[in-house]
Amino acid sequence: MDTQEKLQPEESLDPQDWDALRELGHQMLDDMFNFFQELPALPVWQAMPDKDRAFFKSSVPHDPQGFVDPYQDFKTHIMPYLMGNVHPRFWGWVMGTGSPYSMLAEMLAAGINTQLGGGDHAAYYVELQVIDWFKQLFGFPESASGLLTSGCSMANLIALTVARNRQAGFDIRLKGVSAAEARLVMYASSQVHSSNVKAVEILGLGRESLRLVPVDAKYRLDLHELRQAVQNDRDAGYQPVCVIGNAGTVNTGAIDPLNELADFCEREGLWYHIDGAFGALAALTPDLAAALKGMERADSLAFDLHKWGYMPFEIGCVLVRREQDHRSSFSFTPEYLAHQARGPAGGATWFSDYGVQLTRGFRALKVWMEIKAQGIEKFGRLITQNIHQARYLMELVEKEPNLELTAPVPLNIVCFRYHSPDLLGHDLNTFNEELLLRLQESGVALPSYTTLNGVYMLRACITNHRTRYEDLEMMVQKVLELGAELERELRA
Ligand SMILES: *Cc1c(COP(=O)(O)O)cnc(C)c1O
Repeated sequence: MDTQEKLQPEESLDPQDWDALRELGHQMLDDMFNFFQELPALPVWQAMPDKDRAFFKSSVPHDPQGFVDPYQDFKTHIMPYLMGNVHPRFWGWVMGTGSPYSMLAEMLAAGINTQLGGGDHAAYYVELQVIDWFKQLFGFPESASGLLTSGCSMANLIALTVARNRQAGFDIRLKGVSAAEARLVMYASSQVHSSNVKAVEILGLGRESLRLVPVDAKYRLDLHELRQAVQNDRDAGYQPVCVIGNAGTVNTGAIDPLNELADFCEREGLWYHIDGAFGALAALTPDLAAALKGMERADSLAFDLHKWGYMPFEIGCVLVRREQDHRSSFSFTPEYLAHQARGPAGGATWFSDYGVQLTRGFRALKVWMEIKAQGIEKFGRLITQNIHQARYLMELVEKEPNLELTAPVPLNIVCFRYHSPDLLGHDLNTFNEELLLRLQESGVALPSYTTLNGVYMLRACITNHRTRYEDLEMMVQKVLELGAELERELRA
């Protein structure tokens, strides 16, 4: 090295003035806490003005702007235009709210910036413990394995990979799908979440290999139809490998007959996977534990913690009943990752042997700290609260002559639409679509939408610990007001 190079001052990303950054950091914390406290008075969502969109078009900054300016930009151009899911009146899709304490845990995890691919260090024991807790809560054996994931899409993909590999009957990791003698097929109800469809595509089975089985009037998988579909495939020389049960469908919250599905899979020698993205956590409530009976019999279970677990994005989890099945689908150990008997490359379990990612963040910390802080009972109560709120909303809808319930409410999802006698002969789908857009743009409340049997409907999915009964009343009032407004416009 020439002396000239060595004479250059050395740099790092740490601040030169720690006190100034400390002060800014404290300000950020105060701002976030104030934001949480002000939430109910803020609009749920507002459209981003063009000037703010344009702000994100500038080219890569070459010169430093300092720590303060980018934070100002965050406050000016980002904070007012959020998705809205932290707000008490957000009930769109299936989202989650996060919490102030788990936010702090996220900061700690980012600060220590440890990684969880493998190795023997404290964070590894935290993740193992969190997975152990969920094994206990969901009735999985102690010997089961698990992994915290980016979400339930990844959890489903991992589980269905294990299902395919385990059931194929040959070394599919080595030979590939094309070596299969018979087409490998999987089954799920027509209400199954798209992430499972994507997983089947990614696994190389082809989307047609996921048979979408019809549902009953309550949107639950029809066992008779399933039996028939499996039989037809066997007759045609195909190889059924797996059934996916839903513990809470995304459209209506329907829970498939999980226990009967377990019997069926056992008899037929099929892998039994359950997508419990949000519904699995309802097992924490005494009310719904019975409806979820059979979940503990699954070969694999996928669920989210960033939806009904109220944790900040991103975090989901997959459990696999037999550790060996899990490991043999993902373990791959090149020389540079060889485990050592002790030291930092020790540890019996390397999480990289259970999934797709090698480098993995410390997702476990927020779950571990929040559950310890609040106690798991609290989560059961919050979930129960959301279910009661959904029933309350259902009652509000049923009471209003101009509102119509459009699907059963088995869990926390309420589907409804505006419908008045004066609207006969009008396209109710278009009407309700416009109504929903106006509702969302008003900033008062944010449900989403779905279409079932050709009927477009508003859909409120309550996975929100901040929601209060009066928030639901506010939405209903606004829907009635907007519906009347639209009717007037139609007449004019
Ligand atoms: C949200 C959801 C998923 C996908 O989970 P992500 O966390 O969004 O990846 C899968 N299944 C169901 C039923 C869901 O609601």
